[in-house]
Amino acid sequence: MANHLVVAIDGPAGAGKSTVAKLVAARLGFAYIDTGAMYRAVALVAIRAGALGDKAAIEKIAADINISFRPEGEINRVFIEDGEITGDIRTAQVSAQASFVSSLPGVRAAMLVKQRALGMAGSVVMDGRDVGTCIFPAAQVKVFLTADSLERARRRYVELVAGGQTAELKELQKEMDARDKADSERAIAPLKKAGDAVEIDSSRLSIGQTVDLIVALAKAKGKTGESVL
Ligand code: C5P
Repeated sequence: MANHLVVAIDGPAGAGKSTVAKLVAARLGFAYIDTGAMYRAVALVAIRAGALGDKAAIEKIAADINISFRPEGEINRVFIEDGEITGDIRTAQVSAQASFVSSLPGVRAAMLVKQRALGMAGSVVMDGRDVGTCIFPAAQVKVFLTADSLERARRRYVELVAGGQTAELKELQKEMDARDKADSERAIAPLKKAGDAVEIDSSRLSIGQTVDLIVALAKAKGKTGESVL
């Protein structure tokens, strides 16, 4: 393996990015950074502070926030200074507001600095919407992970119900489609496949098959020793 490898996994909501990225990171012995959780954390703090109508206040929250990850088995625990927010950032309200706050230029600029710093600390698997296009455009491995819309909604439904939340499949599909549309159409760092990303449609692949494909891509690149810096 090269000294420092970045595996970027981007794609629409519910494509299985975080599940797959976590397992790829564990197989390769890399850190895992969930960039979506960072936007969710900003949204949660903005909701708690009653600041959703105040763009300048949200941008200040993003600049000041201290987000850390602590992987524990299958769970990627997320913390801010106030304590653990792992479960609190997964509600429908936070999903919708994360999409809104992520469109603000000051929020994106603040997250970019933090995400690059996290990615420089060592080899990483990073998932999100703009990892391969903006955060690490020179990432050695770029994957654009997709699945058809109903299958993505079904996966999110299973995840929510397993976590003890109630959900409605059709509603989830509508909410995810709306979020993907907003994420794809925003002015800064929209959701889009990098020109040099490998597209993997996971609609009919198991998690294990998807992980194997990405691990193989990383191992092939690791041998070349290209630098991402
Ligand atoms: O990946 P996840 O669904 O948790 O992301 C929540 C929201 O955060 C997305 O809908 C998107 O608006 C935003 N996001 C982003 N850029 C990223 C990761 C997430 O704008 N790299």
